[in-house]
Amino acid sequence: MKACIIGGGIGGLSTASLLVKRGWKVDVYEREKILGGRALSCKIDENYENLIKKFEMKLISSNPSMQEIYDMAEYKVDLGFHLVGGGKKGGCIKLLKELKTEIKYAGSKLGFIGQQIKYPILSPKDKFSILPRIFQLLFARKSKIEEMKKISMEEIIEKYGKGKMKLILELFPRLITTVNDLSRISAGETFFAQRELMGGDPVIYPYGGLSSISNALAKYIHKRGKIFLNKKVNKILIEDGKAVGIEVGKEERIYELIISTIPVQHFFTIADEKEFPEEWVNYIKNLTSTGSVVSYHALDEMDENLLNKSFVFIERNVDFEGNSVVGMVDFKMNYKNGVAPNKKYLIQSYAICSPEEAKNKSKAMELAEIIEKNIKKLIPDYEKNMEWRIYSSIWHLDGVAKTIDSIKPDAKTPVKNLYFAGDCVASKGVGVNCSADSANLVIKNLEKEKS
Ligand SMILES: Cc1cc2nc3c(=O)[nH]c(=O)nc-3n(C[C@H](O)[C@H](O)[C@H](O)COP(=O)(O)OP(=O)(O)OC[C@H]3O[C@@H](n4cnc5c(N)ncnc54)[C@H](O)[C@@H]3O)c2cc1C
Repeated sequence: MKACIIGGGIGGLSTASLLVKRGWKVDVYEREKILGGRALSCKIDENYENLIKKFEMKLISSNPSMQEIYDMAEYKVDLGFHLVGGGKKGGCIKLLKELKTEIKYAGSKLGFIGQQIKYPILSPKDKFSILPRIFQLLFARKSKIEEMKKISMEEIIEKYGKGKMKLILELFPRLITTVNDLSRISAGETFFAQRELMGGDPVIYPYGGLSSISNALAKYIHKRGKIFLNKKVNKILIEDGKAVGIEVGKEERIYELIISTIPVQHFFTIADEKEFPEEWVNYIKNLTSTGSVVSYHALDEMDENLLNKSFVFIERNVDFEGNSVVGMVDFKMNYKNGVAPNKKYLIQSYAICSPEEAKNKSKAMELAEIIEKNIKKLIPDYEKNMEWRIYSSIWHLDGVAKTIDSIKPDAKTPVKNLYFAGDCVASKGVGVNCSADSANLVIKNLEKEKS
């Protein structure tokens, strides 16, 4: 049995790996020359600006100019800020473990940038006072969680949100979903996601850069599969309600199973919408993604007490969807894990916004200022040691927002032998964890079909 995977991001590579494990012959087609999709790592060079544009991102500012940065940057970066939630409990690391492939990573708790800097965010006293209530919510019965899926975090905060508990309920649901508007965030989804990640590191970053994850998966796939880089799939061939192959270049190739991992909103650029029910086509086309402004700051000196730590912040009463903006500043990218030159450091940061706000340059610049303010709270005179900084905005961070008003599609499509995988489908978690776990959803569907 031969399967074709469209897209060499974490979703495509995870699905390919699980199919290889089950004895399938697999071909992965990736449009770009680099593997990893939105989770790729690369050098900051002349290609960087063009590359990020292909992933619905835009550079909004740099200091000094990009040309000067190209001449001096010996750093390895990702498309933008990346941390993986839950460490060994998250979908990504769990999948690698299942494949008996391990990657090294730096993990940490989270601190808070408020009037004062708190690391970690919860003191033993805080834990004593709020954890019983948090656990009650996290470990509510399954039926209660299902009930809570229809309730927004805004309602939960009205009921339970006092003092530190309020802060925790305002921060984490936003960080988990990359959506600022609490009225759109489902309480049940959030508690379920949080519960799944309990016992792992809150956030991790892989040694050698984010692409260590895709490289590890690719190594596994090569056992029985092929990965074609720089090979864009033009069309999915569908006959009598059944997917039968793909068109690459001028060639048609036949497969028993086809899995698309490209953002679902772009799916009908490679599949003829007439082959699908109209209602489903409209549903898929109207699914919304999430957005952010992300930054890298390169420093040649830094207080090493900050190494590997991550901090969250909240900017209240601002003119953004949800009235508050949540973001993070992280110190896991540095010379010790192979992404920065010797004795140099990268600070990666982000602030959440809606896709529309990310596309609007002046709104994006406002977020850049919020990020600057928070970095300066941690390192007031950081500019003294700064080599360069860049800010970009992204309007397709998570493929489909996991919110009350947006239900992610199943992996199975209405066309036989054709599936979706990646962060657009209704698997566990968000971002790279959702992409990795989508492979399990595809396998579950295939097994159901077989029986
Ligand atoms: C700036 C930024 C910051 C992020 N931060 C985080 C974070 O901190 N934590 C987290 O968990 N997630 C984060 N994410 C989200 C995470 O990167 C994605 O959820 C994940 O990488 C998506 O993987 P995927 O395989 O589902 O999709 P993609 O990575 O988009 O893979 C799809 C692949 O398909 C390829 N492709 C498209 N069209 C074709 C075609 N016609 N033929 C062949 N190939 C094609 C694309 O080039 C791409 O490689 C972030 C994303 C961005 C962009």
